[in-house]
Amino acid sequence: MRIAIVGAGNKSLYLMDIIDKYKFQIISPVVVAVADIKNDAPGLVKARERGLFVTNDYNDFFKLDTINLIIELTGNLDIHNDILSKKNNETRAIAHTTALLFWEIDHAAQRHNKTNQELSETLALYNVLINGLIHEDVVVIGLDHKIIDINDTFLEKLGLTRDEAIGHYCYEITHHNSIPCSGEEHPCPLAKVIKTGNSSRATHIHQDQNGNNRHVSISCYPLLEKGTLKGVIEVSKDITKDIAFEKKMMQQEKLVSIGRLSAGVAHEINNPLTTILTSAMLIQEDLEEGTEIHQELAIISNEALRCRKIVKSLLDFARQTKSFKRMDDLNEVINESLVLTRKQAKFKDVDLSANLAQGLPPLAIDRDKIQQTLINLTLNAIEATPSGGKILLSSHYFKEKNIIEIKVSDTGDGILPDNLLKIFDPFFTTKKNGTGLGLAITHGIIEQHGGTISVNSTPGKGTNFVVRLPLQGNNN
Ligand code: ADP
Ligand code: MG
Repeated sequence: MRIAIVGAGNKSLYLMDIIDKYKFQIISPVVVAVADIKNDAPGLVKARERGLFVTNDYNDFFKLDTINLIIELTGNLDIHNDILSKKNNETRAIAHTTALLFWEIDHAAQRHNKTNQELSETLALYNVLINGLIHEDVVVIGLDHKIIDINDTFLEKLGLTRDEAIGHYCYEITHHNSIPCSGEEHPCPLAKVIKTGNSSRATHIHQDQNGNNRHVSISCYPLLEKGTLKGVIEVSKDITKDIAFEKKMMQQEKLVSIGRLSAGVAHEINNPLTTILTSAMLIQEDLEEGTEIHQELAIISNEALRCRKIVKSLLDFARQTKSFKRMDDLNEVINESLVLTRKQAKFKDVDLSANLAQGLPPLAIDRDKIQQTLINLTLNAIEATPSGGKILLSSHYFKEKNIIEIKVSDTGDGILPDNLLKIFDPFFTTKKNGTGLGLAITHGIIEQHGGTISVNSTPGKGTNFVVRLPLQGNNN
């Protein structure tokens, strides 16, 4: 389409730009001629540069061959009417008011471009934020509890692909439930946001891909579109480690204070106990064996001995006895513990065996104390295992981590989840004649060796105690 422009002011420059800029595909417009009474009108100057037809009188346009469109930009109605009366039928003419359309088209197109660009910038930013920078789990949930979007961190943790998560119910994905969360334990953060319109917080227990419980702190924020709630953004943080650490610290503090207390009490009791014991034995010596008093005195000394044993355990627990470490073979210590506990196992008709790692590197240990630990764990296992059950002591060397692991596994009664937190507490026992000191002492000894002891147990199935001792840095 060949265009001629009448009036070569700034508007004409702008118009030429727009026509250049947009390739209106089918009509492919080109400006071929420009008229203005002023020779230095900017449009005329530009047209001259481009080698277009320029004139001071638009009447010259009618002499040119095929002009398809004359655009009048002077704003003078008389000129427009004059053009209309002179042009031939094939040529169309539009007034400056109609020409405004070009401006509008340009404006709309620019806005469109800007919005597009902003959108892609926002999207890029969103992706970086959600999937790159934020290490927390982020999920966008609709009011129907269906997942709208989810970040890579969360997907990885759940072991799911994006397709496996999006469109599914949030409670299905994180709780393997068929109905939304509710109640005190698992309040639904989404429901709270819907109810209040404000952000909400909750702590949940989620299951990871291995079925392990994870404590998760959830913050939920309303997702608003023009003031209406469309869904929520949930940001959750795994606080399992923090909770475990806190528990461990509490346990530690408790043990330390009980240790101090018991050490004091034990010291005070030790001396009078010794007096009772020796006095009873001295009187006994003067009496005939078999008499009633002789027997009663025997009871006194036996009970006093028993008390001394408890006191000794208490002192052990309070780490009053010094430890002597030297390089030793753990497998040997395990074997000795087996020998010492074999009788009890046989008595209960429990199978006691070992599976020891070959070529275990030697380790700096207080042999007697580690043996005490292993005997404690093995006796506990025997006591918890009904006849016909199995107990296995195994050792393993983890070269990369530079630790030796000893495991005591049984097929016994197991430990109730509520008790799991308490078994290392001094005096916690579920046995009629238990002292509740075995595991507390064991815990202390392993700690003196710079190691850790952990437990997992399934009630009715059995229990595993795992002791990990580092090869280096256990010389404190
Ligand atoms: P005690 O043996 O005197 O009760 P411990 O400190 O050795 O004290 O053990 C504390 C408690 O831990 C026991 O009473 C028992 O309930 C539990 N326990 C320890 N080991 C096991 C095990 N292998 N199986 C089941 N329960 C166990
Ligand atoms: Mg015990």
